Amino acid sequence: MGIARVALPVAVPHAFDYWIPEGLDVRRGSVVRVRLANRSSLGVVVGIDSASEPGLRVQPIDEVIAIPPIADEILDLALFVGRYYQAAPGLALELAVPPSCKARSRRRDGAGVADVPQLAPASHALNPAQRAAAQAILDARGTSAVFMLHGVTGSGKTEVYLAAAQDAVERGGQVLILMPEINLTPQFELRVRAALPGIRAVTLHSGLAAGTRRASWDAAASGAARIVLGTRLAMFTPMPELALVVVDEEHDDSFKQQEAVRYHARDLAILRARRRGIPVVLGSATPSLETWARSRQGRYRALALPARADPRASPPSIAFVPLRGSRTQDGLSPPLRDAIAQRLARREQSLLFINRRGYAPSLKCASCAWESECPRCAARLVVHHAPDRLRCHHCAHVERVTRACPQCGNVDLTPLGFGTQRLEQAIRTAFPQARVARIDRDTTRSRGAFAAVRQQVEDLEVDILVGTQMLAKGHDFPRLTLVGILGADNALYSADFRATERLVALLMQVAGRAGRAGLPGQVIVQTDFPDHPVYRALATQDYAAFADELLAERELAQLPPVTRVALLAAEAHSRDDVDRFLASAVERAHALAEGAGGIEVFPPVPAAMARRAGYERGQVLVQCPRRAPLQAFLPRWRDALVGIGGSKLRWAIDVDPVAF
Ligand SMILES: [Zn+2]
Ligand SMILES: [Zn+2]
Repeated sequence: MGIARVALPVAVPHAFDYWIPEGLDVRRGSVVRVRLANRSSLGVVVGIDSASEPGLRVQPIDEVIAIPPIADEILDLALFVGRYYQAAPGLALELAVPPSCKARSRRRDGAGVADVPQLAPASHALNPAQRAAAQAILDARGTSAVFMLHGVTGSGKTEVYLAAAQDAVERGGQVLILMPEINLTPQFELRVRAALPGIRAVTLHSGLAAGTRRASWDAAASGAARIVLGTRLAMFTPMPELALVVVDEEHDDSFKQQEAVRYHARDLAILRARRRGIPVVLGSATPSLETWARSRQGRYRALALPARADPRASPPSIAFVPLRGSRTQDGLSPPLRDAIAQRLARREQSLLFINRRGYAPSLKCASCAWESECPRCAARLVVHHAPDRLRCHHCAHVERVTRACPQCGNVDLTPLGFGTQRLEQAIRTAFPQARVARIDRDTTRSRGAFAAVRQQVEDLEVDILVGTQMLAKGHDFPRLTLVGILGADNALYSADFRATERLVALLMQVAGRAGRAGLPGQVIVQTDFPDHPVYRALATQDYAAFADELLAERELAQLPPVTRVALLAAEAHSRDDVDRFLASAVERAHALAEGAGGIEVFPPVPAAMARRAGYERGQVLVQCPRRAPLQAFLPRWRDALVGIGGSKLRWAIDVDPVAF
């Protein structure tokens, strides 16, 4: 007899009691099948009370799933996630349940990573900076040191990771390498295989077929796989011999889950490593200000790779070209057109970056100023070609393109601004002889599409590549010598205090694609604001100076990472419901925050996108200079909010939010 506390995947902040029938081997971490409100559900045992007798209404555990119990390390990590991120423990624990227990995923089964591109082995020797960085990591084995590996684009951070990984594996350890994008994992996997032949590496991300994902998880859990490459969800993989964690592109927002359980995989990587007493390496060309601040405080150890790894490569030259007053044609300024023509003549490749997909960001009436707007969102409808549609990028709304203005009947409607489709068309018109490829979410929806275009670029079957930020990261094309940046001015002035940090990171990544090998690289930015700090940072390529300046600003403004923040976001069909809920949330917060160690509660404001998919949206920010008082305050606030919004309102607390 005895009672098991079982966390179930439902949004309640507690576990449920079940009694343990005779003969069932139930332990902490066991995955069990139980009934909840007469429906069968999987749950995880988080505690056992063998002395206590079940009450009358307590139900039995129906089945223990025949797998080893979830290891304490992973169970405790998931429970921490529930507490810290204000998520239901059962939902957090769902992240730790092995894929083999879950129902087959809806994704079709297939060959897994069959579409891996070919890559030559890249096992050249380390340069002195790489060797020093790798040595520092090796010397820290068995300690919980946190390293910030700040390496300019093309400086060869990967070789440092691999040298440290090889050492860890040779000593019997396992290595977890987290990366931001599914698209990067096949390439990285190949580099691992080339550099560390004979070491078993597996990948884990949501794009894998269910069978492959199960096999990868099981190989990590049994210790058969020595290296696990994965996106944020791989953070919960059991690895009994884990000896090193690497977070590549640690500044990337995709490490933060934006719905349900809002955890940050980078921050969990640091926690998991510290609890195990092993080192963690946070790598980036543009470290997040969170990481930057801690390295400046001496809490993280800074390792620098200041130069490109290829001794023939030098930093790209960067030029700013005004749009106003120039003879811009189809969005292309004369200097950019000339530069592209030169590349075509020299059989080199060009990359044109514009961070908007579709044909044009909106459709406008020239006579009455009507613009195409989404009926369900506070957003413009984007003009798409082939097929011709107006699409909302925030909800599923689609319309046929109107021939006449619905407001004044004018038939002269103009697509406003540029998207990837329009830029592609302009390029094809300007350079009819060029082979052009476009990469954005529309062209890469099907599995393998991204890898296929990537391979074409590598095989020099593409002269000009047009695309969004999907192209920005980690791709290395030796004959790509020109990067054109278009339309970035649109992102300069944003209400989000992180906008400049994010834009510099993105532009430095994009610019870093130019001239990776022996051929000199050139970057041309079309802008009317060349003196903006974002562009100055890009011009000087001095991220350290930029980050220090930004950190000083955050200090003055008392914004993260100097302070800790949490966001209460609410949405409902009626704006009144949202306003009423947030007003009473603020009232309760003030009452709870009184004398609670410097917690500041801001007034309710509309969300950056005030309406989305028919929902009115608002938010309240709370902040505190220290983590502990905020962590003590949040569960009490959450409890005080239960039930006050009514059934039509949805709300969530986002701790350490990355989007506002
Ligand atoms: Zn009109
Ligand atoms: Zn919409």
